[in-house]
Amino acid sequence: MPDNDGNTAIAPGATIGILGGGQLGRMTALAAANLGYRCHVFCQSADEPAAQVAAATTLAPFDDTDALDAFAARIDVATLEFENVPIATLERIAARTPVHPSPAVQAVAQNRLREKTFANEIGIATAPFRAVGSADELAAAIAEIGTPSVLKTVRFGYDGKGQVGIDEGTDPAQAWADSGAGPDTDGGILEGFVDFELEISVIVARTEAGETAAFVPVENRHRNHIMDETIVPAPIPDATADAARDIAVRLCEGLDVVGLLAVEMFVTAEGEVLVNEVAPRPHNSGHWSIDAGRTSQYEQLVRAICGLPLGDPTRRCDAVMKNLIGDEVETWRDEIDDPRARLHLYGKTETRAGRKMGHVTRLGAAFSG
Ligand code: AMP
Repeated sequence: MPDNDGNTAIAPGATIGILGGGQLGRMTALAAANLGYRCHVFCQSADEPAAQVAAATTLAPFDDTDALDAFAARIDVATLEFENVPIATLERIAARTPVHPSPAVQAVAQNRLREKTFANEIGIATAPFRAVGSADELAAAIAEIGTPSVLKTVRFGYDGKGQVGIDEGTDPAQAWADSGAGPDTDGGILEGFVDFELEISVIVARTEAGETAAFVPVENRHRNHIMDETIVPAPIPDATADAARDIAVRLCEGLDVVGLLAVEMFVTAEGEVLVNEVAPRPHNSGHWSIDAGRTSQYEQLVRAICGLPLGDPTRRCDAVMKNLIGDEVETWRDEIDDPRARLHLYGKTETRAGRKMGHVTRLGAAFSG
């Protein structure tokens, strides 16, 4: 709402609603608090990482319409930290208060077919792909795309779940069954296998007025299909980095994102950049920006959704971010003794294999500028 000076920004002191209670929400709430905002977290348990640091919480399922309406009435703007918040939930809130990025953006990002189709429509390359709705359609798609290829669920896949590698000897019926694709996932998508040299991502912030700021491309290294380390900056030639940034900004503008868009890409040996997927929220590959950036991705999100000018996205120094997964969290005593390491623990009480418990950012030499 404009104030008496015609200023449309949501000023510090206002309340930001966050859908989802994970570590991305926790770090958003901490950044928001630094700027004088309160955060109201909508999640399922008071023990979740974001709920632990929030000014207020609503503990309810995403389909509890009474709880959603009461939440919407108590916040000035909403955002989300979790990829699969139902679109109906977002639309219900958006009817009462601004939601950034919008439900329309989320609907594209939640669906692998839509996100790749959208990228191709605006001239951005992806792996070749086909929609598949049955084992027979998979067999036909394999004949077209060739092998090796990758079958994924259209929705709800993350950390390699719902993915099946296809090679010459693969039985399509078995692969279809193994993928778990079906009506609940809006079917499957067959993608050509990309023989990439490295995986990178770029996070772009954008305001409603159309100002954008992109972080430097970073390399993401995975272990057991889970992000393990982020190398800042990605070791790629300047021309490749410029191309990656350009792709991310075009997607962010094309989708009309207000907030953050993380774009995951493959870089081939020939220097070609192919988009894999987009996430309209803070991203694991942006954790480094808290300690090595001039503005963190979390602060950038708060600025973008509240209509404040964006901060400087450049970095103070190079960095390597390491996720502390499962038992790796036990190394916290060593990390806390290291003056160049910045330790972040998410307050999760139960350590489980594959669970992101915290991260550490190791700082490189500081820039003089
Ligand atoms: P995704 O769930 O799409 O992010 O995929 C998880 C991981 O699987 C990626 O980070 C890649 O390492 C790998 N992957 C996904 N799609 C492909 C592809 N088309 N070609 C090669 N590797 C892929």
